Amino acid sequence: MTTDRMEKYAKEVLENLKAVIYNSHFVYTSGKHGSAYLDKTAICLDPVAMKFLCHFLVQKIPDTVKMNIQVVVGPALAGIAVANTVVLALNDFRLDAEPKIYFTWVEEDKKGEKSLRPTFQKVVKGKQVLLVDDVINTGHSLLSTIRLLEKLGARVLAVAALYNRAEYEPHLFDPIPVYSLITVKLQETYSPEECPLCRKGVPINTEFGRGKEFLRQKGKSV
Ligand SMILES: [Zn+2]
Repeated sequence: MTTDRMEKYAKEVLENLKAVIYNSHFVYTSGKHGSAYLDKTAICLDPVAMKFLCHFLVQKIPDTVKMNIQVVVGPALAGIAVANTVVLALNDFRLDAEPKIYFTWVEEDKKGEKSLRPTFQKVVKGKQVLLVDDVINTGHSLLSTIRLLEKLGARVLAVAALYNRAEYEPHLFDPIPVYSLITVKLQETYSPEECPLCRKGVPINTEFGRGKEFLRQKGKSV
């Protein structure tokens, strides 16, 4: 399938699952405001669509990288389903079933501290890793996962994600390459001080994003 058709399909999946919400007032992880939101959890609702998306994503990763991947790591929770499906897709591109590609996940505690279970630490040590997520936002979370994996003796070959919000600095992951299926630009984003939605008094969405925290900081009850 051509890249255009793959991207069209990926966008249709987002629409069909109602993973993109428009015409509201959101506070994103970056602290910026905007009227549209990408609901990561909705992407996991359709495992069959996920299978196709992950196949397309794997097609975007060069063979030279693909052939060297020993372990795929995904951040819990939403990244687990994508990373697991990417392993199956990678396997379909191999001529031999051996050596196996393993899958592990990274957990995060309430303070944002990341960790791998002892069993998984042994699996990634000295291995070449593909780090997979559903969506790349600011990239900071993935970056701290890369640092953790490196500390545990893994070498991160590449980062791959279904959807790229492209909110991160262009060279944030250098020299690690980033592959994504599609880039989803969610219209304009604004700093809270210059947000036209705030000015108009549009209620902040507290169901998605950081709306609740934002209102709490401003001393408003939610
Ligand atoms: Zn606002």
